[in-house]
Amino acid sequence: MTQITESAPSVVDAPALTAADRCDSCGAQAYVRVTLANGELMFCAHHGKKYQEKLAAVASNWHDESARLSEARA
Ligand SMILES: [Zn+2]
Repeated sequence: MTQITESAPSVVDAPALTAADRCDSCGAQAYVRVTLANGELMFCAHHGKKYQEKLAAVASNWHDESARLSEARA
């Protein structure tokens, strides 16, 4: 499901993250997907924020669904 097809940066909506997507750092449900030149990283909301400063400069796409966390709890 996570297939890199094009080298060009994509600005269209990427597929939504699901409960099967896990944070690469802690294994919690992922809400942030970072597309890099050589692949993708998944992060939970916590680690997404933690690594955003470092990774934003090299990421070709930053997909953040962490806003859904507050919606789900409402
Ligand atoms: Zn995490």
